[in-house]
Amino acid sequence: MRSSWRLGKILGVEVNIDPSWLVIFALITFTLGGSYFPRQYPSWSSGMHWLIGLVTSFLFFGSVLAHELTHSLVAIRQGEKVRNITLFIFGGVAQITEEPDRPAKEFTMAIAGPLSSLMIAAFFAIWWLVFQTTSQPLAALGRYLAMINAILAVFNMVPGFPLDGGRVLRAIVWGMTGNLKKATRVASLTGQGVAFLLIFIGLRQIFAGLFVNGLWLIFIGWFLHSAAVRGYHHVLMREMLRGLRAEDLMTKDFETVAGDLSLQDLVEDHILGRHRHTFVVTDAGRLEGMVGLGDIKKVAREQWASTTIRQAMTPREELEIIAPDDDGNIILQRLSEKDVGQLPVVENERVIGILQRGNILRRLRTRTELGI
Ligand SMILES: [Zn+2]
Repeated sequence: MRSSWRLGKILGVEVNIDPSWLVIFALITFTLGGSYFPRQYPSWSSGMHWLIGLVTSFLFFGSVLAHELTHSLVAIRQGEKVRNITLFIFGGVAQITEEPDRPAKEFTMAIAGPLSSLMIAAFFAIWWLVFQTTSQPLAALGRYLAMINAILAVFNMVPGFPLDGGRVLRAIVWGMTGNLKKATRVASLTGQGVAFLLIFIGLRQIFAGLFVNGLWLIFIGWFLHSAAVRGYHHVLMREMLRGLRAEDLMTKDFETVAGDLSLQDLVEDHILGRHRHTFVVTDAGRLEGMVGLGDIKKVAREQWASTTIRQAMTPREELEIIAPDDDGNIILQRLSEKDVGQLPVVENERVIGILQRGNILRRLRTRTELGI
């Protein structure tokens, strides 16, 4: 995971800001304060242009946040867990840990966002009308926010997965066919279609001399395309994992090390020599923890000789332990929830295998090739 700033909790949902979001914030503030408002309202002072630009930019940020919060609150009401909301360069995403299990649930969760944007647009349209005769700057602010929220609602309703409209489309096809995989495929393909259309329009704008606008559309298109493909693969993977157990997916080929070995010895004898990156730490056969490159990198190099594996490892209490007959989808969820690369499979207090993200994929591929 990339590092993002924690803004705090709003209505019980953790809100994060990705550094890339600052780019869009600066861009909107500069466009509004330096160009849009001066062109529309030349009679204002330059200070007023910038002040209204900045306030509008903040309120736009609040609008995007409200859109994502609405998705999250509806999801929570439906019994889903929401990990967090992250605002980044293309807007926001609410990280809902599980895929919805019913079409109706997905439909309500998806449509809630654009509806909230429409309501915010209506609110600022009324604001605009109210201040139209009394304050030109406040009216201008309302006008812009009404417009941008309406655009937000419309763009999100474009029927391409993973946009909200794509999720609505998926829910409808899913409801009609009862087949989530097929529904995701349809929604993902329209998503890719929309993405190519945006890239095409972007290229045309670049050739027409509108370089920044064009580049922007190409970026959004590229992002949408990769998200649409990823969303489909995710569902495919869930489908393939269904019915598989930890035992089918784990690797028994792992190495055990003792906790009192120094990091120096671990690196020299086990990592550099044998190209392994993760080790199970045991004490008389019992699981004590796991140690990997990530744990080692946290210790300064000069201290490797004087630090034991036990001091640097991730201890058992912090590990998510998997039983041999745990379901494949639960494992995938644990791997992504905890954001770890590997999990130990434990039976009768003994480690019988480890699950690694990359390994699961490889095993699935082998099974598909063999037709199992
Ligand atoms: Zn949305």
